[in-house]
Amino acid sequence: MLDNMKEKTILVTGGTRGIGKSISELFALKGGTVIAIFRSDKLSAEHCINSLRGSGHQAKQVDITIPEAIDDLWRQIEKDGITVDMVINNAGIGFHHPVDQVSYTEWQKGFSDIIQTNLIAASNMCYHAVQHMRKNGGGKIINISSRGAFRGEPLMPAYGASKAGLNALTQSLAQQLAPHNIYVGAIAPGFVETDMARDRLLGDVGKGIKAQSPMNRVAQPEEIAEATYLMACGNMWMTGAIIDVNGASYMRT
Ligand code: NDP
Repeated sequence: MLDNMKEKTILVTGGTRGIGKSISELFALKGGTVIAIFRSDKLSAEHCINSLRGSGHQAKQVDITIPEAIDDLWRQIEKDGITVDMVINNAGIGFHHPVDQVSYTEWQKGFSDIIQTNLIAASNMCYHAVQHMRKNGGGKIINISSRGAFRGEPLMPAYGASKAGLNALTQSLAQQLAPHNIYVGAIAPGFVETDMARDRLLGDVGKGIKAQSPMNRVAQPEEIAEATYLMACGNMWMTGAIIDVNGASYMRT
């Protein structure tokens, strides 16, 4: 079992804000070199990279919904002679599109945008990570899923579907890739206090969400980073695991 990230390079999508930023911070603190992918928020990206412990970290602007951009990213990684040991598929989006309140066009947009980012882009990132890791003797892929995959997401049905799909992808790849010494697992958080959830955590709705946990609160991004780190340190026998990190707000059996 690993107990630090020394001499490891970790690629984190959405690695400069929210949960991804906390993951980048923790993995750098543990001695790893971070490649953090962001889409548009350059200021947060620069700030995040400059604040990471250690040296050699980089932020790369890649819209992961563009398959060719993911191709270019990995081509550049190979050209630079970098060996990526871990990929953390964390980037994700979510917005409301309840079936009884939106137009057919809005409904379709919900599904196409959310599935494209949360599932298809993650699958494309996995494809390239696998080709890279096979050449280098193995690696780890950790997908940041969601409690919503199990509990349902009535206001964001495409989000729940995307995360259920991500879980199924995790399990399929874990089986296919174990012979190649490539670990694949997922972390399934409940609500986390980031930009994505901030609006929903305000007022009475927010109180109700917090009350879902017996600790009467939601997670801080650092807590999800710690769970991700735990998985990153885990042994190969843990491959295929989907770990709930939701403050006992939703128990599945
Ligand atoms: P944030 O909205 O705070 O951050 C999202 C990150 O993803 C940003 O860094 C953003 O880049 C990046 N991103 C989004 N789209 C793209 C894209 N097309 N290409 C590249 N990067 C992109 O989200 P959270 O930190 O809250 O969420 C992180 C993950 O955790 C997501 O997968 C989410 O589904 C999951 N999760 C979150 C929960 C929550 O309550 N917050 C609960 C359960 C799971 P940029 O900074 O440039 O915009």
